[in-house]
Amino acid sequence: MSDPVPKALLVCPVCGHENPPDGDWRVRRQGARERLDCPVCGETITVRGVPALAC
Ligand SMILES: [Zn+2]
Repeated sequence: MSDPVPKALLVCPVCGHENPPDGDWRVRRQGARERLDCPVCGETITVRGVPALAC
């Protein structure tokens, strides 16, 4: 019996909305970065770099 490993959840500090990083967050690309916004209140949760595609 193996317990499923809980995925790390991102939690909105404003409204408490929880979702995994690949959940229902609004993703906005800003150049080489992605910004995750809360779909409920619009708070910016985190910004992460995106590997640049080789051209
Ligand atoms: Zn929120």
